[in-house]
Amino acid sequence: MLAQVDEKTLAMNIALLIGGLVLLGAFFLFTVAAITAIKCALWIRRCRKAEREFLAKYRRADGRQYPPFMEGICTQCGKGNNKVYFTATGEELCPPCYERSWRSEARQGAGRAASRCPRSKGQRNDGRRLIVNPRRC
Ligand SMILES: [Zn+2]
Repeated sequence: MLAQVDEKTLAMNIALLIGGLVLLGAFFLFTVAAITAIKCALWIRRCRKAEREFLAKYRRADGRQYPPFMEGICTQCGKGNNKVYFTATGEELCPPCYERSWRSEARQGAGRAASRCPRSKGQRNDGRRLIVNPRRC
């Protein structure tokens, strides 16, 4: 029976079969790589989202950590709250009062730092104009 098979046709069929398997393997590898890339992208996205949520929950808008808190009564507005922050100055502030407090302190601090910085006036001692990088002060 084998003697009746045309050798040229057999060789062509085997080549086609091997080529098809190679193409199938390449397609499989490409598919696996694409799925892995998509999963990695989704994972990175979820990590960033979780980090943003964590920072929003446990950090202030300027990136600093919130002070310790407990249930209590706010010293500024006098309302009882489930969450009262114990500040370094000894005050006990509810979240809205604390937000107002640290934001105004940050604004005053930035103003003080700017007035303290000798270069913030934009002038050198010799009167020439100076380009100031406010972060350096
Ligand atoms: Zn309050």
